[in-house]
Amino acid sequence: MADKPRRLNLTRKYQLMTRGLDWETTYQSMDDVFPYDKYEGIKIKDWDKWQDPFRLTMDAYWKYQAEKERKLYAILDGFAQNNSQLNISDARYMNAVKIWMQGVTPLEYAAFRGFAMLGRGFRGAGARVACQFQSIDEMRHYQTQMHAFSHYNKYFNGFRQFARIRDRAWYLSIPKSYFEDAVTAGPFELITAISFSFEYVLTNLLFMPFVSGAAYNGDMATTTFGFSAQSDESRHMTLGLEVIKFMLEQDEGNLPIVQQWLDKWFWRGYRLLGLVGTMMDYMLPKKVMSWRQAWEIYWEESGMALFNDLARYGLRPPKYHEVATKEKYRITHEFWCTIYQFSHATALYTWIPTEEELDWFSAEYGELFDTVYRPRYEYWKELDDKGERFFQKRLPVVCNVCQIPIFHTMPDDPLMNCCLVSEYKGTKHQMCSQGCKDIFDREPEKYCQAYIPPQQIYQGNCGGATLEAYRKWLHIKDEETGEYYGSEDHIMWEGWKAQAGKPADVPA
Ligand code: FE
Ligand code: ZN
Repeated sequence: MADKPRRLNLTRKYQLMTRGLDWETTYQSMDDVFPYDKYEGIKIKDWDKWQDPFRLTMDAYWKYQAEKERKLYAILDGFAQNNSQLNISDARYMNAVKIWMQGVTPLEYAAFRGFAMLGRGFRGAGARVACQFQSIDEMRHYQTQMHAFSHYNKYFNGFRQFARIRDRAWYLSIPKSYFEDAVTAGPFELITAISFSFEYVLTNLLFMPFVSGAAYNGDMATTTFGFSAQSDESRHMTLGLEVIKFMLEQDEGNLPIVQQWLDKWFWRGYRLLGLVGTMMDYMLPKKVMSWRQAWEIYWEESGMALFNDLARYGLRPPKYHEVATKEKYRITHEFWCTIYQFSHATALYTWIPTEEELDWFSAEYGELFDTVYRPRYEYWKELDDKGERFFQKRLPVVCNVCQIPIFHTMPDDPLMNCCLVSEYKGTKHQMCSQGCKDIFDREPEKYCQAYIPPQQIYQGNCGGATLEAYRKWLHIKDEETGEYYGSEDHIMWEGWKAQAGKPADVPA
């Protein structure tokens, strides 16, 4: 009796389909074929020790992903057909979604490119395959977000030219520069920056509180793609942890290099997340949790527990994490105060929080909020009531590393701006914090080339040397920018609410 061909289990199949297809090159030296994975100084003795974080073959991968896509698009279709934009908590909420579309979605695309590079860059087949999968995941995230947001683009301002805005607008150079810094590093630094520091350590803060915030504010489109991405995200996090362990187990000389990267990318990631914290605190009309509380849960508890685990490899928690913890009472307010003053140069609206919201801030942030930020909002509110809504006319100094305008304050003095200067090749460069200054000083040749929007504007490289000329160059229309109250989104939203319950409950 002939044996039936035995079916291979998934692990065995994966082995054959990845490492089984790999070979050592002979016509060309391996170093010539993989020119990038040694120059950072990371020593790998045995690539076969790489533990594959997700053992998926291509056919299984497509099957799982196709299933998720079917569910996601069914919900997005239902969302659009039911005019579900009417069910969000308030049109102010849409500004969080605009930031996501303008700032975060392009990062998914950057991650797709970065992981495609990694999928070619490592000489270990296991690592290459994992990065290829992640690359495709990231492309999917980019596309699903785009599709989810396209519905909002029909009704709200600020979505229509995200790609140009992403390339040109000052506030979007914050997320953009984060990824461009990573993809212009070597492959091990890139994967540490994205897979470990960003996805493993910090994404929890983006996905958990913010996506539940989207749900709480009636935005089922964002919630659904968020959850659809979450299962990919857990694979990515496993990859992030594996890569750290792998580098540290392969050679003890790798430890100081990895530690330096963790210091750098923790700080860069933390600075970037300040923007997400601001979305949570200020742009969710129905609050889920404050940035302060999220920081306590996801960093002070979970993040520190992770670093306690990693101590057996010789790693210590990232430098300046205690500064970040000190700043938890203020960074989102410092951010909002700045966007508030500069929103005439963004494709967003800003506003003074309502009385109820100010009280929530007082409860969440205590005395510092009541003595420093509340009076500022009350003053601006007075101006606004007199018809003198406050907008800044000058351009700010911007940090040469994180590219955030210098509005963050000294670790021990929330009333004193923190501006640190490094001189390099006869030019002065400003940084927002000791964390950013350390990063600059370690690689000044890299950061002295950074494209800093205000410098470029004043040099006349952005359509002219005035804010007006700059706005034209951004192609921002008056109606999609500035103050929320009285804006097109606001007026339309009030109109819909006034119609609610009447027979024609559908906007024209
Ligand atoms: Fe992603
Ligand atoms: Zn900075």
